[in-house]
Amino acid sequence: MIAVLFGPPGAGKGTQAVALAELLGVPHVATGDIFRRHLKGGTALGQRARAYMDAGQLVPVELVWDLVAARLEEPDCLAGVLFDGFPRSIRQAELLVEWLGQRGRTVAHVISLELADEVIVRRLAGRRVCLTCGASYHVDVNAPADGRCLACGGEIVQREDDREDVVRARLLTYHRETAPVLAYFSALGVVRPVDGDRPIQEVTLAIRAAVSGS
Ligand code: AMP
Repeated sequence: MIAVLFGPPGAGKGTQAVALAELLGVPHVATGDIFRRHLKGGTALGQRARAYMDAGQLVPVELVWDLVAARLEEPDCLAGVLFDGFPRSIRQAELLVEWLGQRGRTVAHVISLELADEVIVRRLAGRRVCLTCGASYHVDVNAPADGRCLACGGEIVQREDDREDVVRARLLTYHRETAPVLAYFSALGVVRPVDGDRPIQEVTLAIRAAVSGS
């Protein structure tokens, strides 16, 4: 089962992907997380991706595709994958569909989380993450006053690309380059729209219903 969790930055894809990947019994492949690991590890790929990520722009397609194609070849991906944050341009979608087609496979579901830009800006610009374990907080809801992670005691920071100016740049990139991917998949009849501006549990249930066709 190849599925895609689609939506603007800050739609809650990462949160929902964990539950959905478990439901589908496939690994969760988040290209943003893979790039962040490369950044942290100081790899050559991380160094090449950094400027794009810091500016809220897409990393060039050849870097993204090499990484995704290599991941798809790994044994745990044989039965399927849940993508999160990929594909993010028509070209990326074409490369994926072509690669799958050569192996007699198709994308089964594109779950599209929908929510307004202003909701996203509020969500992302207030988000704080733990540098050590990746736990996520929000300044209006639960960010610890001492700046230390409740789970592991790590330092809580604002991701560079969650600064409001960068969030607005990411939204521009999303509307210009990523949103058209939805029309591409709509033509294949695999898009399942889900209202993402609701409590996490409700969105999870709506996604479950969407992939089970009820
Ligand atoms: P994310 O955590 O998914 O929002 O990704 C963080 C950043 O990584 C994005 O703003 C891009 O710079 C880069 N990135 C992640 N996935 C992709 C992708 N599929 N194509 C191009 N750039 C990506």
